[in-house]
Amino acid sequence: KMIKIEDVSFRYKNSENVLENINLEINEGEFISIVGKNGTGKSTILNLLAGLTKPTKGKIFIDDIDTKSKKDFINLRKKVGIVFQNPDNQILFPRVYEDIEFGLKNLGIDDREKRIDEALKTVNMLEFKDKDTYELSLGQKQRVNIASMLAVKPKYIVLDEPTTMIDSKEKENIYNCLRTLKQSGSTIIFVTNNVDEILLSDKIMILEDKRIKHVFNKSEILDNVNLLEKSDIKIPDIIQIILKLKQKGININLKEWTISEMIDEIVKVYKK
Ligand code: ADP
Repeated sequence: KMIKIEDVSFRYKNSENVLENINLEINEGEFISIVGKNGTGKSTILNLLAGLTKPTKGKIFIDDIDTKSKKDFINLRKKVGIVFQNPDNQILFPRVYEDIEFGLKNLGIDDREKRIDEALKTVNMLEFKDKDTYELSLGQKQRVNIASMLAVKPKYIVLDEPTTMIDSKEKENIYNCLRTLKQSGSTIIFVTNNVDEILLSDKIMILEDKRIKHVFNKSEILDNVNLLEKSDIKIPDIIQIILKLKQKGININLKEWTISEMIDEIVKVYKK
């Protein structure tokens, strides 16, 4: 059971294809980043996965559910949780608790109190349960959105540049949520243009010219720096340095792939 994108093409009304002949399988427990220049169809893929739009050609299966199936729409909404870029567009109610509860009621889900508490705990915001949503920072609002998504207990989690509008301290909080979710075995599909975020994932998929240009594992990132740069990803100095060292025959052992752990590895080599 998993996600299958089978030969999918997509165009919006009165336009040409935005995506062409996309084939992809995503296994349970995988954490995959989707990168690509602006307008390459990243958000469109996420909307297709969540069933918010339907393929013009081809099929998408979420487990056994065809996203075109009308009768499975509610099931699909329960299986695939989505969080968008702008936190303000997703919050509808004056209180945190009500905002999360609304989504659950909509999907006919009971035992709401327990789910809301659990979800708020996961995003480390339980103490904000009765707070007013308008008093929250953008980052806190985004964590409420993540909690709303998690409270449904979706098997698949889809995030569309969730940290773009959020300051760096709050970004860390969201990364921590993602790490927790990854450890608990969630399947995560993440659109991002930020290397810190790419490094959280196991696999990277590059979109270019309406198609999948390349899919690679995080351990192959140094071999794909050029492709990432072509996709408007800013490669941090530390990775450029590691790459230059590699070209000179000095291999840094990058087991964990966070920026700070990369620095630790370089320090080790330097101190030898
Ligand atoms: P990305 O997320 O990679 O920036 P999108 O999936 O948002 O790309 O958009 C892909 C292309 O589809 C872009 O050219 C964009 O202008 C166009 N597009 C996006 N949404 C719509 C829409 N609702 N109607 C028509 N065209 C759209």
